Amino acid sequence: MISFYPGPSQLDAQVGKWMQEAVDQGILSINHRSDSFMEMMAQTKSALTRHLDIPSGFEIIFTSSATECWEMISQSALKGISLHIFNGAFGEKWYNYAHNIKKGSEEYPFGLQEVLPVDELLVPIMAEIVCITQNETSNGTQVKNDVIKYLMKSSPTTLVAVDATSSLGGIALDLSQADIWFASVQKCFGLPAGLGVMIFSDRAVERIKEIGEKDHYNSISTTLAFGKLNQTAFTPNVLSIYLLGKVAETRVPISKSGNSTAKRAEILYDFFENNTPFTPLIRNQEVRSDTVVALKGSADQIALAHHFSEKAGLLLGKGYGKWQKETFRIANFPSHTDSDFDQLIDLMKSSF
Ligand SMILES: *Cc1c(COP(=O)(O)O)cnc(C)c1O
Repeated sequence: MISFYPGPSQLDAQVGKWMQEAVDQGILSINHRSDSFMEMMAQTKSALTRHLDIPSGFEIIFTSSATECWEMISQSALKGISLHIFNGAFGEKWYNYAHNIKKGSEEYPFGLQEVLPVDELLVPIMAEIVCITQNETSNGTQVKNDVIKYLMKSSPTTLVAVDATSSLGGIALDLSQADIWFASVQKCFGLPAGLGVMIFSDRAVERIKEIGEKDHYNSISTTLAFGKLNQTAFTPNVLSIYLLGKVAETRVPISKSGNSTAKRAEILYDFFENNTPFTPLIRNQEVRSDTVVALKGSADQIALAHHFSEKAGLLLGKGYGKWQKETFRIANFPSHTDSDFDQLIDLMKSSF
């Protein structure tokens, strides 16, 4: 079966081989304070740095999920409140988690077809961190690099935190233009779920050290201190850290390969618009996602699309949240081959 679900999604073709390697090398039985673990973790971090073009001075830590990253930020990276700008279900969930931890945290919803309204935010903001979702997996919108850059410029003392769960490793993101980035590995990295990655600018690291929050098992300042030693606070998901290193080492740097994701997205949007009863949910091309293609249609036609696909061994992503009935989603991740998409397109041609 080929999974076009936007996470968990199609595994990288080499995952099985790497898992066996991890078993054979004994890496899964070693102590997480041992030299071989620290060496493995250092390798993963440097492979990831090369693959994603992580600026020097930035720090990488591992968590269990993107959801954990949401809470860690509210817990450890601010004293006051965060501001959440979102247009979909994941951004809103993040806001809800943040609000539970820091009660005054604010929300700023914006429209589905709109570019994130940085200009309106030029009013002085009280928030210590502005939080955005680079790729909103629920509706297939994205915030482009230049908008994030503008957001950073417009609020010089405010940190910018970016949920890039369904885009990090799929498109080229200018990581120098925000302070905190995070993702989990079951989306663009094509790995089994159970690991989150978090990246901090030097400015963010400084702020977190200043705040010095150490009350939790996953306090960021503690996690960063262990990270410096290539260790973790608790026994981590060693297999996932190993697999992430392998995937990052093997893939072409995202600055070179990210464009092909965008090109493939364009082909998909065009194909569906012109050859099927479905249209892109997002009409504004400026904000359309490259990695998650959301398509709109009648409930009956969507049911048919799922039916035909399943019979052909292809799994489409269901609609999410309030778009559940009228949309379906197709992940366009690096683990998907061109031939996977040829199969999907051929099937759609013959079905509709
Ligand atoms: C999938 C997803 C999450 C949640 O990821 P978990 O690893 O399940 O915590 C958060 N944000 C976005 C944008 C996502 O796509």
